[in-house]
Amino acid sequence: MDIADLIEVSRRYGADEQMVLAGGGNTSKKLGGEMYVKASGHMLADIDASGFVKMDLSALEQIWDKEYPEDTDERENQVLADMMEARFAGEQARPSVEALLHSLLKPVYVVHLHPGLVNGVTCAQDGEETVHRLFGDDAVWIPLVNPGYILAKTVRDAIREHEGRTGVYPASIFLQNHGVFVSADTLDEIDRNYDRIMSTLTAALKRTPQMAPVAVDPKRKELITEALQTYAGSEQACHVLMNEELTSRLQDEESFYPLSSAFTPDHIVYSGFKPLWIDHTVFSEEDPVAAVAARCRAYEKAYGVAPKCLAVQNTGIFALEERAVILFQDTVKVAAYTESFGGARFMDDDQISFIRNWEVEKYRAKVS
Ligand SMILES: [Zn+2]
Repeated sequence: MDIADLIEVSRRYGADEQMVLAGGGNTSKKLGGEMYVKASGHMLADIDASGFVKMDLSALEQIWDKEYPEDTDERENQVLADMMEARFAGEQARPSVEALLHSLLKPVYVVHLHPGLVNGVTCAQDGEETVHRLFGDDAVWIPLVNPGYILAKTVRDAIREHEGRTGVYPASIFLQNHGVFVSADTLDEIDRNYDRIMSTLTAALKRTPQMAPVAVDPKRKELITEALQTYAGSEQACHVLMNEELTSRLQDEESFYPLSSAFTPDHIVYSGFKPLWIDHTVFSEEDPVAAVAARCRAYEKAYGVAPKCLAVQNTGIFALEERAVILFQDTVKVAAYTESFGGARFMDDDQISFIRNWEVEKYRAKVS
């Protein structure tokens, strides 16, 4: 199978920051019982043939006839093993965590992305109602369920139900707190579907995020940087985010609420499941650097992981990893978009801990 067109479309969407952040999302092409799907740990923007895994669709189809254990870890381990088995001989790379979901969509091409604007709906209180109202029978809504096997099975059942009821194969599948799958037999149709999704959602917005940068107090920046470096024991540069949206969000913990938890698995993996809130009184303590470092240690003690982002009242968002800041910037946009669709709706606690513990996500966080 020639996958030059799959590589082209992957790079094109991957290079568009409205559509793809930090490499998130994945693509596939099917033909004659074979599927090329993006391998885990590759960025769409610069992907080449080595970033795709060739899989046997009939072997993937057999997964649906198998009985898997009730226990989540055992089940996901076995499904993962079966997915690895479904690769063609000689394939070394690990298929995307969403390969099973790609395999069950009928059309030739699948482009799955997590655009901020789309997540403004999938992470909104009125998300489901909005998707039905704006996209009718062209779209299916999938509620928040465990990723991996359960998500794929939920989508499989939902498409059957949708087709049976409406007679229409859905062009797009909106996943609550995650993103969208768009599938079509031609790439032109993929583009048309995405254009329609983005323009329809843009037209439905009541306001757009105000992302103009705002200067950060240099003295505070220096203090927080030193504190983060002290805590992490490294000389790594600190990345800072401050803009008009954040100026109003960082006023107090109440205004910060729409940014205080995780919208999607990507946000958990790259910018942490929850930012550490630091109130501005810390700057009047005797040793602010020690005080902030102590808060970081307390967070780590409480949650078993280092805080990836510090949200400092009236100051800015600080992180040692650049990707944490990039994804937090997305959180800021998503939160603003959700206001047009009933307000923010985070992943629930069970889902957050599932992602935090999911072996596949640990792999993704590690290879990135
Ligand atoms: Zn995804």
